[in-house]
Amino acid sequence: MSAMRIYHINEIFYSLQGEGAHVGRASVFVRFAQCNLACNFCDTKFAHVMYCFNQNELESFVLALLEKERVASKPQIIFTGGEPTLQLCESEPLLNGFYRCIETNGYQIAPSWIEWVTFSPKTKPIDAGNMQRANEIKILYSLFSEDEMIALAKDYPNKQFFVQAIDRGTQPIRYDSLIAFCKKNPQFRLSLQTHKILEIH
Ligand code: SF4
Repeated sequence: MSAMRIYHINEIFYSLQGEGAHVGRASVFVRFAQCNLACNFCDTKFAHVMYCFNQNELESFVLALLEKERVASKPQIIFTGGEPTLQLCESEPLLNGFYRCIETNGYQIAPSWIEWVTFSPKTKPIDAGNMQRANEIKILYSLFSEDEMIALAKDYPNKQFFVQAIDRGTQPIRYDSLIAFCKKNPQFRLSLQTHKILEIH
């Protein structure tokens, strides 16, 4: 028998998904500590390890949280980070029976037991394997040129594409270019970080 995996987790909380295709949907967020990148615009304080859980401990924690919140039916789970593919493993599906989503920078292809993949590339070239695995591609504007974004959407006509502003937290976000881009390229939808706008925690 293989050694029991221990997951290093930054936080687990119940809230609404603020952005992308599942915006507004109640979700349990499982934020993994650690990332393979160090983007200078990162808006997540993922480094602190609040919990070291094995599979059973993680699942019990989530079930207790849902009981505490008096949730009437199973909400979706969002594995996020940091970079969750540093820790998630094909051979150890977590939270079977839930609809499971992941937000990944594509460090590794998401395990096959994940139902919904949000791929948000941060580096070039954009990996084809991750594009194929993704249900939703969230591009931060303007990590990639408009020409690169248009070419990507053309190569993957059946994927859902979102464009989202980088929030550096220092000045108000300007949406003019993103709106103009979406109007010119209807395959892209504007993704707002509604949890920040509405101050949902
Ligand atoms: S990949 Fe995401 S979590 Fe990791 S440093 Fe970049 S923005 Fe932050």
